[in-house]
Amino acid sequence: MAGVQGKSVLVLGGSRGIGAAIVRRFAADGAAVTFTYAGSKEAAERLAAETGATAVMTDSADRDAVIARVRDSGPLDVLVVNAGVVVYGDPLEMDPDAVDQLIRINIAAPYHASVEAARRMPEGGRIIVIGSVNGDRVSFPGISAYAMSKSAMQSMARGLARDFGPRGITVNVVQPGPIDTDMNPADGPFKDLVYPAMAFKRHGRPEDVAGMVAWLAGPEAGFVTGAMHTIDGGFGA
Ligand code: NDP
Repeated sequence: MAGVQGKSVLVLGGSRGIGAAIVRRFAADGAAVTFTYAGSKEAAERLAAETGATAVMTDSADRDAVIARVRDSGPLDVLVVNAGVVVYGDPLEMDPDAVDQLIRINIAAPYHASVEAARRMPEGGRIIVIGSVNGDRVSFPGISAYAMSKSAMQSMARGLARDFGPRGITVNVVQPGPIDTDMNPADGPFKDLVYPAMAFKRHGRPEDVAGMVAWLAGPEAGFVTGAMHTIDGGFGA
C-alpha cells in the first residue's frame, strides 16, 4: 500500500501473535519497521530476518526504557502499541505484583510511549493502540484487572486525540475480540466463555487485526481519531 511506503513505524511488542502480524503487514507494505520484544528473542530475530524489520529488546514494564526506545526511534510516522499481558483468576487470590506489572505494561507504557512519540511526530502521524473488546464488555469473571487496563486505553485515546489533533496526529484504539494467539489459543479456555456471545463461533486471525491497523495508518483514515475500532466476530453485537 502506497500509504505507508517508506514511513517510519515502531511496533511495541512485535515478536509474536497480533504484533508479529502487524510487523509483517507494515513490512510488506514497504514501511521501515522497528519492533520491540521482551522475552521472545529467538522469535523476534526470526521475524526480523523474515521481514527485514529491526528487532530491539525493550521491556514495556520499564517506563524509562520505553520512553528512551521511542525517543531513539526518531521521528515516527506511526506508533503501534501492541504489547500487552493478561492476568486471569479470582481477584481475591491474585498476586498484587502481577496486577501492578499488568498496569505498567498495559496502561503506563502506552501512555508514555504515545506522548513521547508525539513530541517529534510529523503532521499526519498515527498513534494506534491495541485495546480489547473487554474495554467495553466484561462478560465473565476473572478478568477485571485486564478489562480495566483496556478501558483506560479508551479515555487515553479520546484525550490524546484532542491534545494532538491540532498537529494533525490521529490517536485510535483497535479492540479485538478473541484472536488465535499464544495469549488466547483457539483451543484454549476462553473459547467456551466467549463463543456463546459471538455471531461467528470462532477465533479471528492476527492478520485480521493487522489489516485494521494498516487501514488506520493509511491515508483513508486521516479523519478518524479518538475512536474505538472493534473487530470481534460479533461478540459485542
Ligand atoms: P501474545 O501473548 O500472543 O503476544 C504478546 C506480545 O506482546 C509478544 O510479542 C510479547 O513479546 C509482547 N509483550 C508482552 N509483554 C511485553 C513486555 N513487557 N515488553 C515488551 N513486549 C511485551 O498476545 P496477543 O498477540 O494475543 O495480544 C497482543 C495484544 O492484543 C495485547 O495487547 C492483548 O491484550 C490484545 N488482545 C488480544 C486478544 C486475543 O484474543 N489474542 C483479544 C483482545 C486484545 P515477548 O514475547 O517478546 O515478551
